[in-house]
Amino acid sequence: MQKKKLALSTQIFIALVLAIIAGIALTGAPGFATSYIKPFGTIFLNLIKWIVCPLVFFSIMAGVVSMRDIKKVGAIGGTTVVYYMCTTAFAVAIGLLFANIFKGIFPVLSTTDLAYEPSATTVNFMDTLVGIFPSNFIKPFVDASMLQIIVASLIIGFALILIADDKDNMEFTFVNVANDICMKAMEMIIKLSPIGVFCLLCPVVAENGPAVLGSLAKVLLIAYLCYIVHAVLVYSLTVSTLGHVSPIAFFKGMMPAMMMAFSSASSVGTLPLNMECAEKLGADKEVASFVLPLGATINMDGTAIYQGVCSIFIASCFGINLTFPQMLTIVLTATLASIGTAGVPGAGMVMLAMVLQSVGLPVEGIALVAGVDRIFDMGRTTVNITGDAACSIIVSELQRRKTKKA
Ligand code: ASP
Repeated sequence: MQKKKLALSTQIFIALVLAIIAGIALTGAPGFATSYIKPFGTIFLNLIKWIVCPLVFFSIMAGVVSMRDIKKVGAIGGTTVVYYMCTTAFAVAIGLLFANIFKGIFPVLSTTDLAYEPSATTVNFMDTLVGIFPSNFIKPFVDASMLQIIVASLIIGFALILIADDKDNMEFTFVNVANDICMKAMEMIIKLSPIGVFCLLCPVVAENGPAVLGSLAKVLLIAYLCYIVHAVLVYSLTVSTLGHVSPIAFFKGMMPAMMMAFSSASSVGTLPLNMECAEKLGADKEVASFVLPLGATINMDGTAIYQGVCSIFIASCFGINLTFPQMLTIVLTATLASIGTAGVPGAGMVMLAMVLQSVGLPVEGIALVAGVDRIFDMGRTTVNITGDAACSIIVSELQRRKTKKA
């Protein structure tokens, strides 16, 4: 009798449950979990981080060259970035709104435990702008600087379009093969995610005990409420009005990618599956292979929501009330921060530091939510990739209408 292999998402779910059980069993000896189990989780994360840079580099380049027209790339890129920025700003606003409504349920901690000195650090826009452009070919890869990698891949992609003649498409073939290799390598790494998920989650539970989940349940609940509201409201509306796909068909078609994102907590790791789902839902291949890798790097609605909710949560814990201009600053910084967040597990938490700093909130507050970051991350990544797919469907539809008119 032939044995049927469990679907990856089922394997990951089982790993998740086992990790919690093993974590609880190991609460008496967390040292074992951190010394002998966590390193395997770190290996899994390292592999994802290792493949992310070449994957984004070649995937965006493949998207650009498949359009074979710089003007078209510009038009699609423009629409994409505008959609991404608007939905992200909306996402932070939802996060801030809900967290403000429910902030009464957040605990106020004794500030003696968590000393806090207001910080005046602000994010300098011009420095950020200059930082997007690489000054060395290799360094963006060494530093895993995603925005610099995107700029590099766009420039080389444009150069390829300009030098390639119609008969000889050797250059294009090379880019596509390189892209396929990176995608395959990523798929191979993602197959390890059940082990990765187990080894990452088990030490978290063992170290903090199951109680950590209880005390942070409220803020988690609010974040998840916002994730759902944003996905249902924004994506249903945009996908049905601009993309001509019914919301039910959209979410149903996206389920495999969403489950993968939920369990791997990596937008980039979900990229191959997300492309498959988006194309099945009507996204054009050339649009998807440009819009989705770009989105996996710069479009993070879920991350933006998380940053909005956590800012209010941390402020409440320190007994600080944020003013309206401070909240506007959060909207702006969280939108920009989400652009600079790599689509790998835990990246959003690092960027939370930047958001907190922009309004002078104590960065040490991150420690309050760090223990359950993985749980926030699973939800925010799911929202992140759903937003990317929605955009690819909408941009494809808009492109089709444009061509019809022309
Ligand atoms: N894990 C998220 C992603 O891959 C990024 C984050 O940490 O917010 O989209």
